[in-house]
Amino acid sequence: MALGSNLGDRAAHLAHARARLGALPGTRLVAASRVEETMPLGPVAQPPYLNQMVLLETSLTPAELLAHCLAIEVERGRARRERWGPRTLDLDIVRYGEQAVRQPDLTIPHPELRNRDFWRREIAELEGKHV
Ligand code: AMP
Repeated sequence: MALGSNLGDRAAHLAHARARLGALPGTRLVAASRVEETMPLGPVAQPPYLNQMVLLETSLTPAELLAHCLAIEVERGRARRERWGPRTLDLDIVRYGEQAVRQPDLTIPHPELRNRDFWRREIAELEGKHV
């Protein structure tokens, strides 16, 4: 899962996400990458992001995990105003093991994986830490 924040107390939003994800039913937070700051992508002028990749082990289905992610985003005051716009907390399911998902509201692997060098860098870091 990729965690991102560029509004408010960014580090606190990421910490909240790590704590909540690790406490989901049937779920364990196995590893976390370093937190890194990245410049915003896309057409909207906005502050830089803090990003982090975490590795979860879970018995939740991808759809269940997505529903929890949306709820956690809302807890941090996430309002969906514009595509690519600033956000207190953004949670993306980047990969789910080797499984592919193609549903109207969920695509895994995440389609932006190929465009985001920092996601791939963070995943490589996690693979090194994976026990
Ligand atoms: P955004 O937060 O603006 O990037 O978009 C969130 C929406 O993207 C969610 O409501 C999901 O329905 C949809 N979505 C599609 N694929 C994924 C994915 N792999 N991870 C998270 N959200 C996804």
